[in-house]
Amino acid sequence: MSFGHVVTSFTGLRAKTEGEDFIVEESQESSGLLNVAAIDSPGLTAAPAIAEYVVELIKNKLGNMQKRADFNPNRRPNIHFMELSDTEKAKLIQEDPRYGRIICRCEQITEGEIIDVIKRKVGARTLDGVKRRARPGSGRCQGGLCAPRVMEIIARELGIDITEVVKDSEDSYILTGKTK
Ligand SMILES: Cc1cc2nc3c(=O)[nH]c(=O)nc-3n(C[C@H](O)[C@H](O)[C@H](O)COP(=O)(O)OP(=O)(O)OC[C@H]3O[C@@H](n4cnc5c(N)ncnc54)[C@H](O)[C@@H]3O)c2cc1C
Repeated sequence: MSFGHVVTSFTGLRAKTEGEDFIVEESQESSGLLNVAAIDSPGLTAAPAIAEYVVELIKNKLGNMQKRADFNPNRRPNIHFMELSDTEKAKLIQEDPRYGRIICRCEQITEGEIIDVIKRKVGARTLDGVKRRARPGSGRCQGGLCAPRVMEIIARELGIDITEVVKDSEDSYILTGKTK
């Protein structure tokens, strides 16, 4: 593969301790603080089981807990427009024409999908937040084409100035102001 074919690659840190196992227990120093730490691989695979175990620990700690009758553990999945059938696409565009507007050409992501991940619960607030949830900028051009358009959408939907849109963390601003 030529160097020109390389796109952004990522590194990851695996949480390690001196021991070999996950730490899932109440802190010995601070009562009521639950440590769910050192979740090394296969932490993703183990996450549902860890969550159930943590619920049991909390139940034992607090005692006499009741499950809320109206609790709904299911979240609506994100919409992946390009994976829909032609009929489903046409219906969605009729309901909301923003699903008919492609913003990320490489990954074929529509404006509707980007707005959806901003507006839904625990919605995206940053360029990377949108990228992680809906994938614009993950393709061949790595956001060269769509990043400014995604920033415009974030600014518009959040009611902020486009210079306030950050890449990821608080100070990771992308624009400083107008040049022309
Ligand atoms: C390269 C790699 C490959 C892996 N492959 C697999 C696999 O194939 N299968 C598998 O089951 N597991 C895999 N894992 C492991 C899995 O990713 C982890 O076990 C899992 O993500 C741990 O979940 P977590 O919630 O404990 O921590 P994380 O997913 O690391 O979440 C911690 C969060 O806390 C945030 N954070 C950290 N510090 C602060 C702070 N001070 N304030 C606010 N937020 C903070 C971080 O930004 C992060 O979002 C892999 C890990 C790596 C690195």
